[in-house]
Amino acid sequence: MICRLLLACSLLLTDFPKLEAQTSQDYSQLWNDLLVLSHDSLEGRKTATIGSKKAQNYISSRYQQIGLETIGNKFSHHFTPSRFSLNTDTATNLIGYLPGSSDQIILITAHYDHLGIKNGQIYNGADDNASGVSIILFLAQYFIKAKPTHSLLFVAYDAEELGLLGAKAFIKDPPVDLERIILNINLDMVSRSSNNQIYACGVYHYPLLGPYLSAVDHKGPVQLLLGHDEPESGKHDWTYSSDHGPFHRRGVPFLYFGVEDHADYHRSSDTVDKIDQEFFFDVARLILESAIRLDKGMRFSGSNNDK
Ligand SMILES: [Zn+2]
Repeated sequence: MICRLLLACSLLLTDFPKLEAQTSQDYSQLWNDLLVLSHDSLEGRKTATIGSKKAQNYISSRYQQIGLETIGNKFSHHFTPSRFSLNTDTATNLIGYLPGSSDQIILITAHYDHLGIKNGQIYNGADDNASGVSIILFLAQYFIKAKPTHSLLFVAYDAEELGLLGAKAFIKDPPVDLERIILNINLDMVSRSSNNQIYACGVYHYPLLGPYLSAVDHKGPVQLLLGHDEPESGKHDWTYSSDHGPFHRRGVPFLYFGVEDHADYHRSSDTVDKIDQEFFFDVARLILESAIRLDKGMRFSGSNNDK
């Protein structure tokens, strides 16, 4: 795919709405979503379990409350992962749509599944990835009030922990024409960092996205760094490490936001009491500002003839 990006960089530093539009109520809702999604009663949100079903019901009810539209008649999009057989019939992605002025889509994603219960221990997955799902709800809440330029498709994926199966199912049986998707913003582990750092991965592959992130206002404690996307850098390459990977393989530009692995990664100790609220809220603000800048600034040819 030849470069489909035609960026209007002049918009990077202008036309930027004040973020005061995000109220303390929006942040308390963000925190509440994190508390609910990482609660013991969801039993670690493992694919095809009762805990997963509870998570699905909660996310669907939040999509509804925010005012997102369905694709088809439900937010739930079931799929049967082919690589393994499940006790129940399906796994489920949750898809909510917000039409913008343009038909072209920015896909905003985070997986909601985690590891379930092992040896009697609940793996709550507060950082991985109740945090990412809570922030996509926070973004949806913002954009429903401030109509986006691009259409936005919010997806909470299932079965990421089993091998990015929700994202692969989305591509195999797409709910929208994949050619409409001009960018994927994926969030996976975004709520804690001992050194107050979060990475945006993807700019190495799609350098034209870089200026949007450099323009973001760093007034809070969090450092937004670029990286973890260069094969030779000596750092772990995250290019294919989460649900953005299958989209990158198809040439869809992506930005993946995530923290480096921590002591509680994939352990039963990834619980909400370990989340740094100040860090998490500042990350939410940084990601929101990045999404606003990308939505307002990006211009695409909109034609399939340039591939
Ligand atoms: Zn994850």
